[in-house]
Amino acid sequence: MAVLQAPRRSVLDPIREKVEANERLDFEDGLALMESDDVLGLGELADLARQLRGGDNRVFFVQNLYLNQTNVCRVKCKFCAFAVTRRQPGAYIHTPDELVEDALRQRELTGFTEIHMVGGESPHVDFDYYVDIVRRLHEAMPEVHLKLFTASEIHHMTTLSGLTHEEVLRELRSVGLGSLPGGGAEVFADRVRRLIAPGKEHPDFWFHVHRTAHGLGIPTHCTMLYGHVETYEERVDHLLRLRALQDETGGFLAFIPLAFHPENTVFERRGWRHTTGADDLKLIAVSRLLLDNVPNVKAYWIMMGMPMAQVALHFGANDFQGTVVREEIFHAAGAQTETEQKIDELVRFVRAAGRVPVQRDTLYNELRRWDD
Ligand code: SF4
Repeated sequence: MAVLQAPRRSVLDPIREKVEANERLDFEDGLALMESDDVLGLGELADLARQLRGGDNRVFFVQNLYLNQTNVCRVKCKFCAFAVTRRQPGAYIHTPDELVEDALRQRELTGFTEIHMVGGESPHVDFDYYVDIVRRLHEAMPEVHLKLFTASEIHHMTTLSGLTHEEVLRELRSVGLGSLPGGGAEVFADRVRRLIAPGKEHPDFWFHVHRTAHGLGIPTHCTMLYGHVETYEERVDHLLRLRALQDETGGFLAFIPLAFHPENTVFERRGWRHTTGADDLKLIAVSRLLLDNVPNVKAYWIMMGMPMAQVALHFGANDFQGTVVREEIFHAAGAQTETEQKIDELVRFVRAAGRVPVQRDTLYNELRRWDD
């Protein structure tokens, strides 16, 4: 007589029960998710969580322009292929005039609604340089949302000016700053920061800047740069720290996982390779599952490539990022993707994934929808 065996329970089953019951996942759950090799199971669970938490068929993108005010940086993060010293070939510090001129020229070609600008921490400028950039861009294009400067750059401005983080943010907001991007977070664990970015300020400052911005009503974004020395535990810890701040303030608009690119960094000489597709998809899925209070998770095609970003839309992502005119930082580190995408192409990929493309502004207001 055949013996009936109970179906084997997957490690994902108890987590699925929590998701279905709308229970918050904890550190151990996060670790179990990270350790799971059931990539498709993770994707299905993350997409279920997205829908149970109110997500619909829409996939957002924004029409944006990327600018970098300078590539001169004093910090020397080991993972960075973008930064140079002032004497190295190719070093630049753009004046506010140059940036405005460039943005106006690009505006005639693409009707972007957002400028995303980050750069190196140059010791050769002062705080007025940053204030001038924001004021001039805002005066030239008052209808364009200015998403400018990482938390590290805001911290740098406090050291340049002697002002507090709040004073710096108030001043920038008064001349037109709309929101902050999420860069500079890397991985928060002290061990990781010592290995990859020993010259960068302590992660507590990243939290302080974002908490202060949220308190002033300035929305921000959050990121994690993964795929280098960090452990699964450190990834989960990073995500849970972001979740805790979001519980407190509600000021994050979106989470963007950033895959590490080793080219032209010290890690390339050590033979390090890119993340794999499975790891990228896992990161999207686990982020969606753990960050139950961050409304949007971006599949950043600049790093993942369009086909993988499209697949990520079934792993919990609901944002395709944007047209991203002229990305430089990840291309310096070997990203093989285009530096720009046309709206038609974004729409085509989103539709082919069975979802509804929606052009948004920075604050996720809907500007245009492709329903048919
Ligand atoms: S990641 Fe940013 S802070 Fe670090 S070296 Fe590069 S530009 Fe400088």
